[in-house]
Amino acid sequence: AKALGKNNSQFYSSELNQIVHEHLMLEASLSKAIGNREMVLGYQPKVDLRTGKVVGAEALVRWNHPENGIVLPDKFIPVAEETGLIVPLGEWVIIEACGALKALARLGVHDFVISVNLSARQLRQRQFAAQLARTLGRLGVNPANLELEVTESQLMDHPDEAMEALAELKALGVRLSIDDFGTGYSSLSHLQKFPVDFIKIDRSFLGEVNLDAHAVITRAIIALGHNLKLKVIAEGVETLEQLTFLRTHHCDQMQGHYFSPALSQKSLEEMVCSDTR
Ligand code: C2E
Ligand code: CA
Ligand code: CA
Ligand code: CA
Repeated sequence: AKALGKNNSQFYSSELNQIVHEHLMLEASLSKAIGNREMVLGYQPKVDLRTGKVVGAEALVRWNHPENGIVLPDKFIPVAEETGLIVPLGEWVIIEACGALKALARLGVHDFVISVNLSARQLRQRQFAAQLARTLGRLGVNPANLELEVTESQLMDHPDEAMEALAELKALGVRLSIDDFGTGYSSLSHLQKFPVDFIKIDRSFLGEVNLDAHAVITRAIIALGHNLKLKVIAEGVETLEQLTFLRTHHCDQMQGHYFSPALSQKSLEEMVCSDTR
């Protein structure tokens, strides 16, 4: 630090102060946000590539901040993870998603699956599966309508512990998927042992399926998933070309802006009910 000279280190420390300050502000307002009803879920539709039907949706959290407007999760999930606030936030996400499932059931839709993103910190909680079972029972939600997405890299941080936690969740009857697949370096032996239903091809591989490298990887992941008897979903589908590629190579489902961004619960209900089921 000495070699940088006085001005440089002063600049650095005021910059650092500002980052720390912003972080503390964020942490303080984040802890109040749930109680203040500032969190909202968007639901991004998932489409069955064979039938073209909307079969599910991924719940994505947004923070409707009173001063800053809509804040996207990349901005606050990391802070929530660090501070442990992800645990109450994650609980709220599950309860809210269950509310959406109940509303769909009241509209006569019983076969819809909503997925929520789970952080490793939630998965590591001792009583997570037992608590989830109680929540689903209390709210009267069929576990088969709920899916939990965990990223491959979070699973691979502690694969054996993750395996046990997933097995408990699987026993409840919820659906499990490995998110951002292809970026977390799981070995084949781990993949074979994780009791999951879906793998989700990370958006980065889909990027430009007309690039040979991307096309090869995407096809390999689809084949790998199918060989392990798993379903495969692609995320971040933005073009007709990507969609056609995925359909040609028998990917099972897709989501992405080409079909729809995340919607409000009401818009999702309208979409699902107008879809001939
Ligand atoms: P993710 O689980 O990989 O979610 C997919 C992200 O890609 C979402 O961003 C979604 O809006 C975006 N996306 C969807 N379709 C397209 C597309 O066609 N093109 C492009 N460029 N992007 C697309 P979002 O909503 O900002 O979420 C970012 C990340 O935040 C998520 O990544 C997830 O890791 C995390 N996250 C979101 N909600 C929750 C939550 O409730 N709990 C936890 N623990 N994490 C969450
Ligand atoms: Ca996800
Ligand atoms: Ca993802
Ligand atoms: Ca991602």
